Amino acid sequence: MNTPDFELDGNRFNVSNKVSKDVHTEHCCAQYGCKYGEEDTCPVWLGYKKQSFGYWNGETTYPIPEISEEEFEKRRENEV
Ligand SMILES: [Zn+2]
Repeated sequence: MNTPDFELDGNRFNVSNKVSKDVHTEHCCAQYGCKYGEEDTCPVWLGYKKQSFGYWNGETTYPIPEISEEEFEKRRENEV
């Protein structure tokens, strides 16, 4: 998968640091949403980074979801 560079909060990301962790990779879910309500910039929600853990609702941990590139593309188009 070819991931272009992108800029977020003044930070430059590219394929080489796609796996780098931040608060979003540790707490957000590409299926259930951004823990911080920042769906327009969340790198996990937008598919720029892989989340570290499955979503946890307080009782159950869900598996890490497989989201299609098409879905991520749609989400990215809705940003701005
Ligand atoms: Zn997030």
